Amino acid sequence: MRLSQMLFVTLREDPAEAEIPSHKLLLRAGYIRRIGSGIYAYLPLMWRVLKKVSQIVREEMDATGAQETLLPQLQPAELWRESGRWDTYTKAEGIMFALTDRQKRELGLGPTHEEVITTVAKEMIRSYRQLPVHLYQIQTKFRDEIRPRFGLMRGREFIMKDGYSFHTNEESLKKTYADMHTAYSNMLRRCGLKFRAVEADSGAIGGSGSQEFMVLAEAGEDEVLYTEDGNYAANVEKAVSIAPDAEISPFSSYEKRETPGTDTIEKLCKFLKTSPTTIVKNVLYQTVYDNGMTVLVLVSIRGDQDVNEVKLQNELTRQAGNYGGNTIISLTVPDAEAQQKWAAKSLPLGYISPNLEDSYIAGSKEVSSKFLRLVDYTAYNLKNFITGSDESGYHVVGANWDENFKLPPKIFDLRKAKAGDRAIHHFDQTLQTARGIEVGHIFQLGIKYSKAMNATFTNEQGEELPLVMGCYGVGVSRLAQAAVEQSYDKDGIIWPVAIAPYHAIITIPNIGDKQQIEIAENLYKGLNEAGIETLLDDRDERAGVKFKDADLIGIPYRIVTGRAIKDGKVEVVERATKKAQEIAIEDVISTIKEWMSKAIES
Ligand code: ATP
Ligand code: MG
Repeated sequence: MRLSQMLFVTLREDPAEAEIPSHKLLLRAGYIRRIGSGIYAYLPLMWRVLKKVSQIVREEMDATGAQETLLPQLQPAELWRESGRWDTYTKAEGIMFALTDRQKRELGLGPTHEEVITTVAKEMIRSYRQLPVHLYQIQTKFRDEIRPRFGLMRGREFIMKDGYSFHTNEESLKKTYADMHTAYSNMLRRCGLKFRAVEADSGAIGGSGSQEFMVLAEAGEDEVLYTEDGNYAANVEKAVSIAPDAEISPFSSYEKRETPGTDTIEKLCKFLKTSPTTIVKNVLYQTVYDNGMTVLVLVSIRGDQDVNEVKLQNELTRQAGNYGGNTIISLTVPDAEAQQKWAAKSLPLGYISPNLEDSYIAGSKEVSSKFLRLVDYTAYNLKNFITGSDESGYHVVGANWDENFKLPPKIFDLRKAKAGDRAIHHFDQTLQTARGIEVGHIFQLGIKYSKAMNATFTNEQGEELPLVMGCYGVGVSRLAQAAVEQSYDKDGIIWPVAIAPYHAIITIPNIGDKQQIEIAENLYKGLNEAGIETLLDDRDERAGVKFKDADLIGIPYRIVTGRAIKDGKVEVVERATKKAQEIAIEDVISTIKEWMSKAIES
């Protein structure tokens, strides 16, 4: 492609709307253009990158025996009602764009395709003889993200590869899941990315495994905790660890103490001259189930620890049945306004005890009249602890479970693991932290959707059983931007060779020089014919501008038909290292071919 004929516009300044380097660079270098919040045009250079990423994804999927397909983006509401997700997706999480057609039928724009694929499977799969089977597609997804940001990282319209596998049993599912782990690792390696596979939260259905593939980068939205020995890595949402030891409480007998102005752990520690590890804090949450039922939740946890709200949400979802619901719609810390709706009297905030009386709740048809009390292991393990007294300005010290506070029948792991904690698998290993961009997620779904939607098969014994399912997603457009986030310098993008929009760019410093043009034209033809995708910068611009643009758009190899041509040579510059060397014109093609084959992993 000739730059003189391209829609090629680069910006010198960082666009104000962009926060992270990859977003700034893709905008500046003319790869993407913002059309609306979370909506982007992929310009020709970007589209080439996306096609290359898609092709690598496709090759790795096909190699596992999965089959490519294309499912509808417009999805009837009935399918989502069958699976029980219509209300949560259109109202609670609100992530699905929903619309009504002229016949007043409700439809959603596909954020994901479990419902559609399960319907296909239900109608087409009858017998164990048809299993296992795995279909995938590469397609635009729509999600009404609450905070679209960082360009293609969190868009409202983005490209995803999603695949769904169907099995007779868990063992067969586990085999495909392991194959996907390999395929995903291959994809990311071939795209030239540094990544880590981590244990991921799989929601309240639990039991079944799930892993995320994280591209390591400072700007990542996710936190990963891992150990140096390589035996543990998890998303912080899911991570488990051993909390640091608690200090010994300075109090050995139970009493109520006046502790004025100590409504935070920090103030209380200062006042009582004690460590937060000797305190049980009681955190109040409010959850609303899908049937409209509000439940007040009191979490007791050690003073130095934080509640992992993903773990809490999962536990509350597991308990949904106790309140006549299926899922939770919201989980919040109730502010003054929220408290007004159910509080029978004003709460002793900052001084709450694990025994806070249920009489604080004005129960009703919509509000459970009892606190749901959840105690975390870190609080459970404390002796002679300090905690609230349910009276403002007072705490109790030297308290013990069962003696002074009733212990609920079950204890939970609700704490957030932190960097520096000891690892569960080996006490000598401590958790380290890293930031990551989630580019892929593989998931053992089990029978969640097939059961809800009645998608069954007949086994060898003639029994009818629900299909066992797995699902596997890669954010193709997010991955492409993540590659930039991992590889750039002050001058611009440094594309990994395998997914660069072009491999080489020929810069003609002076288009008034006939010899320069002739050599450049010949090389341009020869390189492209040899399969080296090459741009020709034949614009009527100053050489400096051309060099700056070539660096900005990040093409791996730049060939300059400059002064050296009088010796039959051109200058070849490697973008990543800025290393320049003069190479005889007749050796350019073979040299770049060799560099490329070294740089591209197969
Ligand atoms: P996240 O936690 O980042 O919101 P998710 O867990 O909802 O993502 P999945 O449903 O697992 O995402 O989707 C599969 C993949 O699609 C993700 O791993 C991610 O790479 C990509 N993806 C998800 N949401 C977006 C988005 N809004 N913009 C771009 N890519 C996305
Ligand atoms: Mg995910």
